[in-house]
Amino acid sequence: MIPRRSVQQVKVGGVTIGGDAPVVIQSMTSTYTRDVDATVRQIRTLAEAGCEIVRVAVPEKSDTEALPSILEQSPVPIIADVHFHFERALEAVEAGVHKIRLNPGNIQDRKQVDRVIGACRERGIPIRVGVNEGGVVERRDKDLRADQQNRLTDDYRGEMIRLMVKLLEEYMRIFDENDFHDVVLSAKCVDATMVIDAYRAVSERFDLPLHLGLTHAGPPETGRIRSIAALGSLLAMGIGDTIRISYAADPVYEVEDAKELLCSLGLRNRVEPELIACPTCGRIEIDLIKLVADVREKLSTIKIPVKVAVMGCVVNGPGEAEGADVAIFAGKGKGIIYVQGEQTRTVSEADMLDALYEETAAFAKRVEAGEVQLHRGAVNIVPPDPLPRKDGSIPLPVR
Ligand code: SF4
Repeated sequence: MIPRRSVQQVKVGGVTIGGDAPVVIQSMTSTYTRDVDATVRQIRTLAEAGCEIVRVAVPEKSDTEALPSILEQSPVPIIADVHFHFERALEAVEAGVHKIRLNPGNIQDRKQVDRVIGACRERGIPIRVGVNEGGVVERRDKDLRADQQNRLTDDYRGEMIRLMVKLLEEYMRIFDENDFHDVVLSAKCVDATMVIDAYRAVSERFDLPLHLGLTHAGPPETGRIRSIAALGSLLAMGIGDTIRISYAADPVYEVEDAKELLCSLGLRNRVEPELIACPTCGRIEIDLIKLVADVREKLSTIKIPVKVAVMGCVVNGPGEAEGADVAIFAGKGKGIIYVQGEQTRTVSEADMLDALYEETAAFAKRVEAGEVQLHRGAVNIVPPDPLPRKDGSIPLPVR
């Protein structure tokens, strides 16, 4: 288990962030919040996918007016995302949201910020204070802005991180003066290595829970690598108490990838099947990529963390599938299925998907009945002669 940075805890509804609580998965709706039905539908989909807290944007009064109905129907705590209008924050608090996301820098009047802090204290709800790379350079004081821009030209990374930490210090002074400490911090950048450096700097400066994320990560195809590189590195260092992976796509992908990241790092126990598949190579004799996609979809109905391997051949497959509870090794026109190291079936290519699912579902039932345990029978198969026959085919060890 990765040792985590020790920070205070905050409560967001029934969910705890920080301390020894598991890293919490967040996402954000992409609907207009005032569209209650669409927003509730998306919140439920995100929650079913494993999202534990959902943030909604409240730019208009009609959005905060929708909050009571959304809160009534939401299975998870809700955060109101506020920019520019302190009234939206007050309305959201009044509606009963579980947390506010606020950037004091884009609210004009200090007294307005104080009022929001006071309202949150009264209701006992935390505030996430975030700085973003795109919003830290001074906008009102022209001389200061020019000075900051010159420094950024000389050393963009160093100066940007220094500005982010400085701005958080200024914001935290406001919270300290209000004696309000129920705070989560974030410092989001675009570049993955800058995200790592920024959060490391913030974690050294503040003893508060951190919300990890990137800004403008892009679509999943590219944003996924950028996000996992940054967030995975930080989590591996023990930094980060709640994460939001953000994509320009359906937010359910954010939740799926956040879950996989936490499971891969051992920060969460899997509750669903784990699918391992060979990367395919010149030995392959079936359409393994399609089979893997079909198996993945079919396994989604099984709700225990059974480890399933789909391998393209019997030459290296057994070694690569080691530790799988259920495995199939495909050869020309047929495949052999193993359940915890025991060969159970030889099936034709057309039957591979159904047979593998049946074996996995039957095994899952035996686990649930307490007859067998997960991850106990390692795959231990002596492969056949790895040299191809004269016709080029790989022999299968059919019993
Ligand atoms: S399991 Fe076989 S087909 Fe798949 S990558 Fe390994 S050697 Fe190639």
